[in-house]
Amino acid sequence: MSMEKTIAARPIRSNSEPLIQNIPASPSFPELGHGRLLIVRGDCIGAAGEGNKHFKLRYNLPQQGSPCPPVISVGGPWSNHLHALAHACSRRNLPVHGFIRGLDYSSTPTIDSLHSLGMRLHHLDRVDFRAERERQWQGLPQRLGFEPHQVWLLPEGGSNAAAVKGVREWARSIIDALRPDAANPVTLYLGAGTGATMAGFIFEANEHCRIVGVPAGRFGLWLQTAVTNVLAEQGSPIECDWWLDTTTDTGNFGRMTDWLRDFISDFDREYGIRLDPVYTCKVARVALEGVAQDQRRHVIIHTGGLQTPALPVILE
Ligand SMILES: *Cc1c(COP(=O)(O)O)cnc(C)c1O
Repeated sequence: MSMEKTIAARPIRSNSEPLIQNIPASPSFPELGHGRLLIVRGDCIGAAGEGNKHFKLRYNLPQQGSPCPPVISVGGPWSNHLHALAHACSRRNLPVHGFIRGLDYSSTPTIDSLHSLGMRLHHLDRVDFRAERERQWQGLPQRLGFEPHQVWLLPEGGSNAAAVKGVREWARSIIDALRPDAANPVTLYLGAGTGATMAGFIFEANEHCRIVGVPAGRFGLWLQTAVTNVLAEQGSPIECDWWLDTTTDTGNFGRMTDWLRDFISDFDREYGIRLDPVYTCKVARVALEGVAQDQRRHVIIHTGGLQTPALPVILE
């Protein structure tokens, strides 16, 4: 059995020190080197490489025991959140229902794996989905014949205060390992869907950190507002500078382009690290632009999204 396979069989535990790797110069990326670009391997965390979703769920599930309320949540036909949730519930033997956005897909690799993990699936057409989102999903229990208090309801992306609490623990461990100070500042790059993960990092970052959020889809002011609202709700002091990257128009959410496809395959070939097409490939691209601009350390937070565990390979 090869070395990699041995490692892959044992995914990295989320409470051990974060795996942070240097991305060296290579034929496709000659501008790198000198410890300027680093990557935090969240894609190696958890049995399915859940990355940030692992931490968002850490404080977001009912305590085991009977009777256990059914867990209900919602997402798209490729939802990383539902995927991580199905894994977590199957491990803990919790009953779980997933509402899928749109009627276009009865089967995707994600949907098939939700099925096999025991999640009960229900489809909502786009009109109903939007209406439920506007009511903050409060109508979902009723669709299954439950009263709201009889269920454990998680919003889209699992994004709520408990999710931010879990993400903060991950962010703390990463920032402790990087030790940003005046002589050695860092810029962290993170994918932003609902913005909850980014908010968790913003709270934990000191004045020598910058946090750059990279929108998964076309930038909208709603995302800026969403992050600002989470920050205001929690009321913790903020020391760092943060912003959402609006310079790279990556197209609509989930849209694949030739450029992204080539970038993902170059990165994989040079470094043995897979980037997902929705979030982390755009994050890596913006981080590379950052490296070209100053002498700080630039750090890609790989938030997972591949729905399979990655094998950490040794770079250099
Ligand atoms: C869900 C997800 C994000 C975005 O997380 P939010 O907290 O919704 O902003 C980023 N990267 C990956 C891989 C994800 O699955």
